[in-house]
Amino acid sequence: MAERLYLPQVLEGVAVTTRHFVRNLTLHTLHLFGLAKDRPAAVTTQYPEQRKVYSEGFRGAHRLTLKPDGSVRCTACFLCATACPARCINIEAGEHPDPEVEKYPVRYEIDTLQCIYCGMCVEACPCDAIRMDTFVHPRLWGYQREDFVEPKAVLMERSRVLQERGRDALMEDMLRAYQAGEDVGPALGGELTQR
Ligand code: SF4
Ligand code: SF4
Repeated sequence: MAERLYLPQVLEGVAVTTRHFVRNLTLHTLHLFGLAKDRPAAVTTQYPEQRKVYSEGFRGAHRLTLKPDGSVRCTACFLCATACPARCINIEAGEHPDPEVEKYPVRYEIDTLQCIYCGMCVEACPCDAIRMDTFVHPRLWGYQREDFVEPKAVLMERSRVLQERGRDALMEDMLRAYQAGEDVGPALGGELTQR
């Protein structure tokens, strides 16, 4: 009967949690007095103020890469949108004013609430026009669904920030805005979304 009520498992879980709690509380208290320093207590990363060092293969938020003249590299071929299992990439193609370039994305949007960060769009792109090497997390906060839809300008601005200020700049901007309680900057989708 007790087994059917999952009572042993519940008690076992409570015992494990209590054991870890008492152990960590004791060790942290001893460490305060300079004792038992050789025995590490569990440490929680206080994200976003503290961050782990991400591996080079970390899949961050998307960015659209740029040509040397700063224009978007994407040719609006729709391969990324077709490969996307979450159907969260929306592209509107337009004729490019330069006759040498066939098409370009008039509109390119990623709904990050639907995205599963699988990287299939990056794999599918034939011209290296989309990457997920920003080392930045998706937007951390927002107040309505539109806040999490990243338009072409945001995705391009990330490439500019990455080129000009290096791989930690985007995350630093996000953290500064988060601590100040402000909206995030344009490269993170802040000033470009409608409130
Ligand atoms: S990472 Fe995956 S789910 Fe997200 S936009 Fe790319 S293909 Fe779609
Ligand atoms: S990002 Fe790449 S795959 Fe997607 S539409 Fe542009 S060129 Fe095609």
